[in-house]
Amino acid sequence: MEERSFGPVRFIPGINRGKYPYCHSIYIESAKILIDPASDRERLKRLRNEDGVEQVWLSHWHEDHFMDLDLFDDLPLGTHPLDAPPLADVESFLNAYDIKEQAFRDSWRDIVTEMFHFRPRRPRIALEPGTRQLGNLTVDIIHTPGHTPGHLCFFFPESGVLFLGDYDLTAFGPWYGDRESSIPDTIPPFGSWRKSRPAPGSPATKSGCSQLNPAICGPTIWT
Ligand SMILES: [Zn+2]
Repeated sequence: MEERSFGPVRFIPGINRGKYPYCHSIYIESAKILIDPASDRERLKRLRNEDGVEQVWLSHWHEDHFMDLDLFDDLPLGTHPLDAPPLADVESFLNAYDIKEQAFRDSWRDIVTEMFHFRPRRPRIALEPGTRQLGNLTVDIIHTPGHTPGHLCFFFPESGVLFLGDYDLTAFGPWYGDRESSIPDTIPPFGSWRKSRPAPGSPATKSGCSQLNPAICGPTIWT
């Protein structure tokens, strides 16, 4: 997968096609906003040095979406308010996964701290659902609970880009079974869109880039 720009919206592919423990990132060039910093640590270091980053937003609190957030410790962080608590401290993070057994808890604490660079953060920007104007660029912040309570998707109508985070339209689906995951919450508002998802194994699905039925919404999406 290659880095691509759609107007001021830049797609930064994750290592290994964004598969865990990586994800894809979005960089809004005109506003210097980085979404989901866990794609490619060295690339994100260069991005900060060469292009500049002023804010970091997260689609949700999972570790494969914040792995490189420590590179941006000094910058304002934006999340949906419902996804802020697991980021506040590592014990809250483990609780959100409902990890009770002590040995498992100890090992996950080490992994999330060392491999995923967990640092306690308190988001300063509440990404409430709705439309924001970033200069000439519009972003629709879409609340898509179910995967996590505060999961967000981001739609850029001028660029025709919809960033889905982990709202996965493949057969694996967006429901992971965390303590606060919810199947009923997952179904709307995208239930009708799922009818148009690519068949499992299709080239679109393998590339991690899905083209929805243009009659329904038209944009290019990444998961
Ligand atoms: Zn996730």
